Amino acid sequence: MQPRRKTRQVKVGNVLVGGDAPISVQSMTTTKTADVEGTLEQIYALAAAGCDIVRCTCNEEEAAEGLAQIVPRSPVPIVADIHFQYRLALAAIEAGVQALRLNPGNIRKPEQIKAVAAEARDRGLPIRIGVNAGSLDPEIERRHGGATPEALVESATRELAYFADVDFDDVKISVKASSVPLMIDAYRLLSETVDHPLHLGVTEAGPPPAGLVKSTAGIGTLLAEGIGDTIRYSLTADPVEEARAGRTLLESMGLRERKGLDLIACPSCGRAEVDVIKVANDAQAALEDRNIPLQVAVMGCVVNGPGEAKGADLGIAAGRGKGHLFVRGHVVRVVPEVEMVAALVEEAERIVEEGIEARIAAADADAERIAAETREELLQIQGTDANHDAEKIEKIREIAES
Ligand code: SF4
Repeated sequence: MQPRRKTRQVKVGNVLVGGDAPISVQSMTTTKTADVEGTLEQIYALAAAGCDIVRCTCNEEEAAEGLAQIVPRSPVPIVADIHFQYRLALAAIEAGVQALRLNPGNIRKPEQIKAVAAEARDRGLPIRIGVNAGSLDPEIERRHGGATPEALVESATRELAYFADVDFDDVKISVKASSVPLMIDAYRLLSETVDHPLHLGVTEAGPPPAGLVKSTAGIGTLLAEGIGDTIRYSLTADPVEEARAGRTLLESMGLRERKGLDLIACPSCGRAEVDVIKVANDAQAALEDRNIPLQVAVMGCVVNGPGEAKGADLGIAAGRGKGHLFVRGHVVRVVPEVEMVAALVEEAERIVEEGIEARIAAADADAERIAAETREELLQIQGTDANHDAEKIEKIREIAES
């Protein structure tokens, strides 16, 4: 991981973006903004999933009126998304939003851009210059022979110049594209050109799993290079999925503290003593709504499970009809296999209440012994070649020689 690039800082309501502020997660509501209750319901769900800033479209007068009622009741800052109509940007400011997103590709008249920037300046609001490869100013696109990284960056810097004319510089920038290589190159170039905070995203990434893969490839690559101050997954899915994905990416890269559950599971193999996929899904469903900030492992066998997942706060490994519950690699309890998930949930709650060390100290006296005996038993049955590789290789050689 490269050290994070130094950027200036902007303030979106109570959330700092850029500088040494934690990298924030953003998403966007999919409701009609005029539907105040429906939009607030989605905003609350997004906040609960780890979203720091939410964007709502402001595409009509009713949307701006909705924002006036949404903003005071929202648990997170609200950004108004503006396309084509600069007057709606002024209306959104009036509604009390904490920031604006302007698309320089579709609000192109300098006097309109400057009118919005001057109002934002007077009210102390930041603006995101949200360049999008698919809606680039046609003149810029023509000159560059297409939506190149240089064209995307020029669109952003030209908008910055209009803002500078009215002495406004409270800006973050995005240069999104649906092509991952284009988006990566555009952000790299932008980060060498300006010191404004950067909002990362792969636009129109599509539904999961492809949308998740594309977004993670683009955003994760840039974050690993130290580029990026706030992120958004643009998925064709419930926006809560976007927030969860953004949060998970930051937590897994060590860029944000873990807020919720991190469920890890072995991929299963010939040694598995249980249906790992089913147990992992059951455990995820049982634990994820409890907001438990632990790493929990589901492992298919007690031969390797507790050792391979010894870094996890808590885990369960199957063996001979039993679940071996372990805390940081120490087996603390052995339960019937049918009670594995319930035992995992109970232990997770007790760890949250009592702490890891207390739960290791409270281990059942014979749990480690039972686990060791089961491990030995399984090794006797399965040997060290549970996938029967040696047997298969032998047969392949026989076929080849015959
Ligand atoms: S050896 Fe055990 S823990 Fe490792 S993948 Fe196979 S079943 Fe899972």
